[in-house]
Amino acid sequence: MSFLLYFVSIYKVQKDMAKKNHTKAEWIKILGREAYSVCWEKGTELPFSGKYNSNKNDGIYLCVCCKTPLFNSSEKYDSGTGWPSFWAPIEEKTVKMERDTSMGMIRTEVSCASCESHLGHVFPDGPQPTGQRFCINSVSLDFADKKSS
Ligand SMILES: [Zn+2]
Repeated sequence: MSFLLYFVSIYKVQKDMAKKNHTKAEWIKILGREAYSVCWEKGTELPFSGKYNSNKNDGIYLCVCCKTPLFNSSEKYDSGTGWPSFWAPIEEKTVKMERDTSMGMIRTEVSCASCESHLGHVFPDGPQPTGQRFCINSVSLDFADKKSS
């Protein structure tokens, strides 16, 4: 039993290291400067600037850093805020939620549970059935269009 726990913890550490296995310069090369500052310095893109804000195609939104599927287009809605908005993630465990008191506000930060890159924030003013609004930066996401797959 303790052996099993040992292997599980080793596996987890290796997985985490693989995901964060890039230097700052490498990430900037992969993502570009704006996405780097959003994903790894918890920045926010300008509203209505993101390429997925008004995307209505059917597909799946992935983490731009580790390609984990995070949101379904069927749970995306037009919140009018200027950022892609979802009322739920694909699965509860695919995102990590943490209290964020920066910028003089009390908010809940949403990050990718797999690689911990910053995605956006979640607010309690979304539509039913969850009443949640996941307000996500376009640059934190990649989109896999159902038609082209
Ligand atoms: Zn990720």
